[in-house]
Order: sequence, then C-alpha cells, then structure tokens
Amino acid sequence: MPELPEVEIVCRGLAAKLEGRRLRRVVQRRPDLRFPLPERFADRLQGRRVIGVNRRAKFILIRLDDDNIVLGHLGMSGSMVVDRAPVTQFGRHDHVIFETDDGTAIRFNDARRFGFMDLVARGELDRHPLLEKLGPEPLSQAFDGAALAAALAGKKTPIKSALVDQRVVAGIGNIYASESLYRAGISPRRLAKTVQGQRAERLAGAIKQVLAEAIAAGGSSLRDFVQTNGELGYFQHRWAVYEREGQPCADCDCGAPAAGGVRRIVQGGRSTFFCPRRQR
Ligand SMILES: [Zn+2]
Repeated sequence: MPELPEVEIVCRGLAAKLEGRRLRRVVQRRPDLRFPLPERFADRLQGRRVIGVNRRAKFILIRLDDDNIVLGHLGMSGSMVVDRAPVTQFGRHDHVIFETDDGTAIRFNDARRFGFMDLVARGELDRHPLLEKLGPEPLSQAFDGAALAAALAGKKTPIKSALVDQRVVAGIGNIYASESLYRAGISPRRLAKTVQGQRAERLAGAIKQVLAEAIAAGGSSLRDFVQTNGELGYFQHRWAVYEREGQPCADCDCGAPAAGGVRRIVQGGRSTFFCPRRQR
C-alpha cells in the first residue's frame, strides 16, 4: 500500500508531467472505482489546464484552471503510469486516462479498485468528508512537539494506534508509525497520553525525519520520478525495524541470539515492529 512518501513522489511526478498542460482528452472506462465517479467526470476535465499538483495526507490534488480539484487516492494497489498519447489500447485495470496537449498520457491503473477520484470545488476542499477531520500535515510547521502533545493528551490508546489515527496527524500509515517510534526510542505500547514534553518533541522530530528521508530516497532513486516501466513513484526503501522480525534493528546489538532481535506485535489488527532494547 502506498504510504505518504510514495504519494508525495507520485505527486511530484504528476506535477512534472501535468503542470501548465491542457487536458486534451480524458477517458473514463467505468462508472465507479471504490466510489462512483462524479457525473460527467471526463467531460468536465476535458479542455481544462492543470495549474498544480500537490498532496494532502495520502490524497492527490490535481488543481484545474476552473477552480475545481481532482481529488485522487491510490487505495491499496493504484498507480499512475506515464505513457504516450493517444492511448489506443487499454489494460484491463486502466480506469482513467489523462492526455495532455504535449502528447503525454497518464493512466490510472488499479487492479483492486480501492482507489478513487472525485471532483471538488476549491472552496469546498477542506469540508470534503474525507478531508475535514484530518490532523496537521506531518511535514508542515503546524505540526511540532507541542501540537502532537496536545493531540495525544488524555488518550488511553497505545501510541502506535494514536499515530495512525488521521485526526492526530495526517498521512501516517503502518510502516512510518513503526519507523518513527523506533527513531524516537519510544515503545509502541506506551500509552499515548504519556507522550508529552521532550518525548513528544522527539517523536514529532522523528516523524519529520523518517518521512523526509524516504521522500529524498524516492526522489533520488528515480529519474523524473518515473520507473523504467513508466510507473510513477514507488521505490525501494530499507527499514530500520519494519518487517525485520527476529533480525537486528538498524542500530544496536539486539540481534544477538539472547536478545531475539526486532519484535512483532499486533495492534489494532496491524503488525507493529519494534526493538525492545532501544524503545521504552
Ligand atoms: Zn535493536
């Protein structure tokens, strides 16, 4: 499943291909994805110019010159694939195709169809049901130790579960919750309300660091954010603890046989990975 850094890299790739370009042809190949597509979706996009592409949490925002925004989400398996226009042969899972006036095509491909697209007026974006309750962007100035501490005050859930709650901070998924807690030296089982003061500062800083490093790694490993198969954005990344059960973590001697290495526990139905030596 794409996490925030992958979505950021997809958005930068889309920006490079779409910004300033007019959508000459938009093809919609089915009426619905995870949700129904808006009425006359393709018609309403055709002829519009793209003025910018950015991200909110894991949502892709393609801003158009008529003050509408295409709100997209990659779901579990969605991808944006760069192609040459006109596309004459469609893959089974190519659901929406955007063709620009410079002969570029972007295909939205999604085998499992947990992804979706909507069309939202700019002034309505913050009130969109999927966006209105989102917490601050983790890489923004609005998110810091004090903001995190305030959001966690009184919460009796484990800190790992609080971090993946999109109202606390937007866009943190399972992988980056484990990696950030490891970086901050905080046990995923610690009660969220006890993450205050210096500890909250450390965790907010760790979240920013791990996300920024992953985005930098994705940006530098791809040429123009495009993989050799034309797909935008996915990249390989090495984790410190994620999916490393029983192995040493990135940075201590916990891999020694007596210590047992990185542990995996299940919280809220999802796996959490942590180093019991480094995280308290
Ligand atoms: Zn360790």
